[in-house]
Amino acid sequence: MIPRLFTCQILGCAAILFALGCGNGTNPTAESAGILASPVEPLVRFGLLWETFDVDSGVVAPGQSLSHILLPAGMSPGQITLLAQATEDEYDVRNMRSGKPWWIAYDRDSTAKASHFIYQRNAREYARFDLQKPYAVTLESLPADTLIHRTIGTIENSLYVDLERLGAPTLLALAMANVYAWTVDFSRLQKGDGFDVMYERTYVNGEPMGMPRVIACHFQHRGRELPAFRYDQGEGYDYFDASGQSLRKAFLKAPVEFSRISSRYNLKRFHPILQKTKAHYGTDYAAPQGTPIISVGDGVVSKSSYTKGNGKYVKIRHNNTYETQYLHMSRRAVAAGERVKQGQVIGYVGSTGLATGPHVCFRFWKNGKQVDHLREEFPPSTPIKDDQMDAFQAAIQEINEAITGLSSVAK
Ligand SMILES: [Zn+2]
Repeated sequence: MIPRLFTCQILGCAAILFALGCGNGTNPTAESAGILASPVEPLVRFGLLWETFDVDSGVVAPGQSLSHILLPAGMSPGQITLLAQATEDEYDVRNMRSGKPWWIAYDRDSTAKASHFIYQRNAREYARFDLQKPYAVTLESLPADTLIHRTIGTIENSLYVDLERLGAPTLLALAMANVYAWTVDFSRLQKGDGFDVMYERTYVNGEPMGMPRVIACHFQHRGRELPAFRYDQGEGYDYFDASGQSLRKAFLKAPVEFSRISSRYNLKRFHPILQKTKAHYGTDYAAPQGTPIISVGDGVVSKSSYTKGNGKYVKIRHNNTYETQYLHMSRRAVAAGERVKQGQVIGYVGSTGLATGPHVCFRFWKNGKQVDHLREEFPPSTPIKDDQMDAFQAAIQEINEAITGLSSVAK
């Protein structure tokens, strides 16, 4: 089976896209052809015409310095010292670390002199030393390639486990969870939920680097279709549904209308009832007894309960990152496990628990920690602008056609 090779113009990325005719990875040709399989041009490596040299290579051993590697290559101690001195401003050879790979390229003539030494500093960067006068070093990066992949799957366990089972990168779970952070609670996926995701990844020397980046995803969750398309309308990439709505939702600014802030988040507040300094992890909104308290965002009620300090309170999980909590209610209007919409009434202002007067103490949890929501920077959730809608629709049509043209591969 011959892999089709074509360039993908989507969103201006000059990525090389391999559409493999094999979906399950059983075809060895397709497997090996996944990455950079067409060396028709002369092989250039580390900026050198690699085939014109005889090459020796190794890995820096513990305690090894440049001399240990270059003396056996035929350089004298004096030459190595001069080389180190001539190059130390650009790269100090004492920074070489054990475990890093190196190469020595020898001239393929009768002299067979060592011509270049290459030290790979990290996955991406290398230093290339000229071993013949004038001694010099060049710091460069390996060329990176972006490949586009597609993975189709059904939830049997969790997104993470299922991606692993499919042989897809598990980091893709994280990337997808970020895309759907405001719409899907990934801890509540159901068996039978499904996804068809198209993503890109950077490769250096055939090895994946960094996070996979979602280009588009069709997610089916609890019978709902949740498409997501990556698009940049001039403010950086964001994810939108097919109608151009941002997948991110803003929180409401306050849990009660017509209220005033009576006490702010303050780690050194003097507590009026306890008569001592006690951190205040919330923002107090004073409002008349019985004023409706609304959820600042969509979510699921994780707690509807009572404690001596909190009084009657409700806690809502919005996504994997954010939870909000509303204290001192006179009455609760929702039960644990209930789904709530942004703006839905979840209780009423009161002064149960440790409270001097009717107010709601609003607590904002981010990754399990209480933070000052008034100081949090939330991402904007701008929908596609009118003048960009045609371009957006054309882009998602192109993306959808590209997805269908791709076989599902695990990479
Ligand atoms: Zn408070």
